[in-house]
Amino acid sequence: MEINSLRELYIDQLRDLYDAENQLIKALPKMAKGATSDELREGIEEHLEQTKNQAQRLEQIFERFGEKPKGEKCKGMEGVIKEGSETLEKDMDDATKDAAIIAAAQRVEHYEIAGYGTARTYATLLGESEAAELLEETLDEEKKTDQKLTQLAEQINVEAVEGSDGEEGREEEAPPSRARSASGSRKKRAA
Ligand code: FE
Ligand code: FE
Repeated sequence: MEINSLRELYIDQLRDLYDAENQLIKALPKMAKGATSDELREGIEEHLEQTKNQAQRLEQIFERFGEKPKGEKCKGMEGVIKEGSETLEKDMDDATKDAAIIAAAQRVEHYEIAGYGTARTYATLLGESEAAELLEETLDEEKKTDQKLTQLAEQINVEAVEGSDGEEGREEEAPPSRARSASGSRKKRAA
């Protein structure tokens, strides 16, 4: 298919984003399931609901064109998700696994931020102000999710460092300075 204008490129990019969101709707529950920190799991579950809404916003934009947003495969997101899931198949302790989930999730969010920033700018340039607003809403959600992941990483990555000496029962031995750590609410795994 030829792309002869910025408008066509814009629509092509929206289709790509739509496919990316739908891939995530399938992938996020698996990531949430793999998380051992309650805060991380709940954060991913919350973002899953946002993601469903983000896909609907794209459908809303396409309604104006009288078209369906399907038809494009987002190979970039496919690769990002595949890389994340391959890492998670490896054997890791709980905190390290949570750190790996955060690493994968932040790649996802950054990829989306790039895509939505571009699409929002195209919408503005093309005079599609309603679409620009919808895309901006999604962009904000992706940015906030990324920030939230950074906050969680500040606790979880430290726990992964401390856990990597193979010491068991670090939660019980946690000094007061770590009383608010994410592992405080980490579910216990069967040995
Ligand atoms: Fe999204
Ligand atoms: Fe997202």
